[in-house]
Parts: sequence; structure tokens; C-alpha cells
Amino acid sequence: VDASTALEEWVRPVEDWPVPGVTFRDLTPLFARPEPFAAVIDALVDIARSAGPVDRVLGVEARGFIVGAPVALELGVGFVPVRKAGKLPHTTLSTSYALEYGEATIEMHADAVAPGDRVLVVDDVLATGGTLAATADLVREAGGEVVADLVIIELPALGGRAVVGDVPVHSLTTY
Ligand code: 5GP
Repeated sequence: VDASTALEEWVRPVEDWPVPGVTFRDLTPLFARPEPFAAVIDALVDIARSAGPVDRVLGVEARGFIVGAPVALELGVGFVPVRKAGKLPHTTLSTSYALEYGEATIEMHADAVAPGDRVLVVDDVLATGGTLAATADLVREAGGEVVADLVIIELPALGGRAVVGDVPVHSLTTY
């Protein structure tokens, strides 16, 4: 199975969730099936390799963990979780941003990215871009560089690319 077939078959649109008027792209049916899941991870890894060498993969809570960790292992680099406020036990860097539905604060361990590190950021969906822009702020505060943002799904109508700014964004599909 290839990645585009996997996405066509196993991404479930859920109407009016979490609020009326929004169609949520539910990836849990894809994650539940090893071959489609592997095809999507392989496609992301191919793109990651073409983006050049990286020192770290960052995944954003929570679905970015599911996608980012296997990408990091395939690339042979470490995985760094970016978490919602108050979850990380050691010294953190922190930033707040506007969400598609509300507001959020995310954090990263201050020692998780070293000055000069080349970082790949992975998430499931690029919506408004607020999450990836905030994650890039954390990386820069730590002295690192975001080489690319990698997502499975992009929702172009929400204008996320403009919010993300200069960092190249790669997506496997758009809705
Ligand atoms: P942002 O608006 O910051 O680009 O996206 C915020 C977060 O909401 C992302 O981490 C993404 O996982 C999640 N998100 C927004 N829309 C959807 C959606 O339709 N499906 C899924 N699975 N996640 C979404």
C-alpha cells in the first residue's frame, strides 16, 4: 500500500467536531493499521531525508508523538517531545499562542535542543500554523534551527503556511 492510498482509505472526516462547522480529520483509523501507518511514516522519512541532515526530531503533543517518534527512529536521531504546559519535569522553555479552537501554552525541556542543532518538526495536521510557529520559537530560543516542518495533512484554507513563515513546510496531502 502506498501513502496516498493509505490516506484516502484511512483518514476519517468527522463533521462538526470539535465545534459545529469544522470537519476534523481523524487519523486514528490509519494509526490502527500497521501497513497504512508504515506507508505514511516511510513517505515522511523520504521527505525528511531530502530536507538534509538533522540532529533531532521534535513532535508536538499528542499526535505529533505518534508520528514523530517513528520518523526519528528511522532517521537514526533523537526524539524530543514538545508538551502542553505543566507536563515536563525539568527546566523548560515555554511559549503561548492562539489555536484554531482557543489558546495554548507549549513547553520543551531547555536542554533538549543544543545551540546549532538542526531540527525537524513533525505533527499530524497543519491547520492555522500556530502550533508549528510556536514550536519554532522554542527551537530558536534554545539556539537551534528548524530545517523543515513535516505534516501528514495540510488544511490550506486556514493559511498555516503564512503563519509558519520562512520554515519550509512539507505535507503528504491537503484537504
Ligand atoms: P494549528 O491550528 O496550530 O496549525 O493546529 C493545531 C493542532 O490542532 C495541531 O497540532 C493538529 O494536530 C490539530 N488539528 C487541527 N485540526 C485538526 C484536524 O482536522 N485533525 C487533526 N487530527 N488534528 C487537527
